[in-house]
Amino acid sequence: MSKIYDLIILGAGPAGLSAGLYAGRSRLDTLIIEKGQDGGQIAITHEIENYPGGVHGDSGPSLIKRMSEQVAQFGAERLTATITNVELEGNTKKITTDKGEFLAKTIIVATGANPRPIGCKGEAEFVGKGVSYCATCDANFFEDFDVYVVGGGDSAVEEAMYITKFARKVTIIHRRDELRAAKSIQEKAFKNPKMAFMWDTVVEEIKGDDIIGSMIVKNVKTGELTEITAPEDEIFGVFGFVGFLPKTDLFVGKLEMEDGYILGCEDMHTNVPGVFVAGDCRQKSLKQVITAAADGAIAATQAEKYIEHMEG
Ligand code: NAP
Repeated sequence: MSKIYDLIILGAGPAGLSAGLYAGRSRLDTLIIEKGQDGGQIAITHEIENYPGGVHGDSGPSLIKRMSEQVAQFGAERLTATITNVELEGNTKKITTDKGEFLAKTIIVATGANPRPIGCKGEAEFVGKGVSYCATCDANFFEDFDVYVVGGGDSAVEEAMYITKFARKVTIIHRRDELRAAKSIQEKAFKNPKMAFMWDTVVEEIKGDDIIGSMIVKNVKTGELTEITAPEDEIFGVFGFVGFLPKTDLFVGKLEMEDGYILGCEDMHTNVPGVFVAGDCRQKSLKQVITAAADGAIAATQAEKYIEHMEG
């Protein structure tokens, strides 16, 4: 408890690991706290094709494994724990976890984001029983069955294409008549013979006994309701990719935020001196592995400068 780290990094996704790498190379006495596995969202992303220098077909888990190994080479301490409270004011910050309290001169918040629920009736009841938010984890359960993917962004379309490797048919259900996904991703999807599209449609309700039995969808232009049922002796899957919710509850009232995202300047400083923000929990226009990694590098460099300045 009495030890004061130079830096505590909250979260070990691409932002936190990149910060850990830069902090380690700068010889900052650093602790990285992560409650689960490393990687955040990319731990459940089947393919990363837009990280510069990446290997063709590289998976999220393999990229994150290399990032974690690289951080380990430079000596940042690691702790698996759940953070329960943060005290960010003053020169010594206190992080309370289920494994004890930790002190630091600086903090980098890199807590990332969680998948946003689809928001229909019955959804929560069928998570793991037909409803999923992770194609890498669950697509193989739907070998030769039908799958519905909700959303129209990059995640929905890329993950839907991955699911076509297993499913008989994958139908994207999108609330508008045009995808948000990058054009290059759309082009691949439109060419894929296993892909279908249900435009102007939202999911109203998911129903069933032990597992999903049916789903009611609504055409938002006509108001028409349709019940989709699995063919006899079959199941179907519903994957939600409708964006993310930042994991920032611990910082409400402590850091300035907008729409739940923490505000940081170009150099990742928050409104509290000595507290920096990096990655998908930060308000910014492009949330990608590369921007998370860049945020982490900048935040760690700024933390080092802050300590130098503090210690005169
Ligand atoms: P996103 O870009 O925010 O897209 C979310 C999609 O879900 C949108 O199409 C949105 O519809 C739809 N949606 C939102 N709320 C909904 C609701 N309640 N019901 C039904 N549909 C809803 O999220 P994302 O695709 O997860 O991507 C997040 C970020 O990661 C983006 O910046 C994206 O570019 C990036 N990303 C990049 C890659 C890549 O480059 N390879 C891969 C994955 C993600 P509207 O279009 O009507 O708003």
